[in-house]
Amino acid sequence: MIRSTVARIDLDALKRNFLAIRSHLAAEPGRTPPSIIAVVKANAYGHGSERVALALEQAGATMLACADIEEGIVLRRAGVRVPVLVFGALSVSDLDGLFEYALTPTISTPSAARAVQTAAARHGITIGYHLKIDTGMNRLGFRYDNLRRTLPELLGSANLRLEAIYTHFATADDPEGSLFDDQRLRFDQALATIDALAPAAAGGVSSPVRSVRRHAGNSAALLRDSRVWYDVVRPGLLLYGIVPPPLASTVPLTPVMSLTSRVVAVKGLRPGEAVGYGARFRASAPATIAVVPAGYADGLDLRLEGRGQVLIRGRRAPIVGAVSMDMMTVDVTSLGDVQPGDEVVVVGRQGDESWQQIGVREMAAAIGTIPYEIVCRVGARIERQYSA
Ligand SMILES: *Cc1c(COP(=O)(O)O)cnc(C)c1O
Repeated sequence: MIRSTVARIDLDALKRNFLAIRSHLAAEPGRTPPSIIAVVKANAYGHGSERVALALEQAGATMLACADIEEGIVLRRAGVRVPVLVFGALSVSDLDGLFEYALTPTISTPSAARAVQTAAARHGITIGYHLKIDTGMNRLGFRYDNLRRTLPELLGSANLRLEAIYTHFATADDPEGSLFDDQRLRFDQALATIDALAPAAAGGVSSPVRSVRRHAGNSAALLRDSRVWYDVVRPGLLLYGIVPPPLASTVPLTPVMSLTSRVVAVKGLRPGEAVGYGARFRASAPATIAVVPAGYADGLDLRLEGRGQVLIRGRRAPIVGAVSMDMMTVDVTSLGDVQPGDEVVVVGRQGDESWQQIGVREMAAAIGTIPYEIVCRVGARIERQYSA
């Protein structure tokens, strides 16, 4: 028995998206294509991190990234074998997971550096890490303009091995702003500074920095500027077949997630009658309402009321009345003979020849949010059904 509202996750589309991104990165003549860190944080953007991670590994991903140690442990327990980078700040207290599950930490603060060094010494091993540089996001990372003061201790840590240096863009999806270019130049400046610092910090042995990889590009950044490809890129959203708005892309991507349900009841409204909490949708003429068993507890946003649409019988029907916890109502008056059991597409496509499609980008735009939020919020109550 499963509920009628399900998220279908097309793992074949996911793998094709990965390969399409890889081809895109290989298409620039005269340079070694960057490798890919496939980002599967936040339960793989709501798609289910275990199956998604294994599929990406199968498709050839050589590194995955997640938000914290707990997410990394989930990946390892699912059988992921490739290196797993942890993006987030490490809670200074509980680092054992890094060692037990062979995760690669990001070191983004001096205190984290000391904590990981202490823990690595206790475990008697040298652990590889990625160094995060703050070039203008002002969130995590060592400030790009203060590295001579902050880095020597880290670079001299006996049990820490620098594997990569990275930064993260604040405005990669804003083609107008200047911060993106500022950050790119600051990152280059930081790389030069570290290169100059490292031999001294490492006690005179040959510079470790020339062998470390550099990375900066999330989905939007890698689409807009190949100068920020460096040695590795870090796409998330693109893997799931969604181009970050407002950007456009010629990379052939397929949406990985679709969200479907079934009509559970059909109700007639007389003129003047209202539907749902707040009685905000009032029928001016005889109307037909279909009840769909998915609501805000499933991650469907309240703001879809009066703004969103679903597909039923291959046609669009507006979401009317309040989205409630477990159900929502759509106006099917113009659709003719809608019956309980009819398929409802909330995200995805429907119909055979003249199929219609509702994309995550469309839904996000309708309610004033970003596609990331839509997919991440698909609720735990919704079963993910995987097709390979
Ligand atoms: C989430 C994240 C990414 C991926 O971002 P997308 O916009 O989904 O491509 C890359 N790098 C870091 C540090 C992130 O946190």
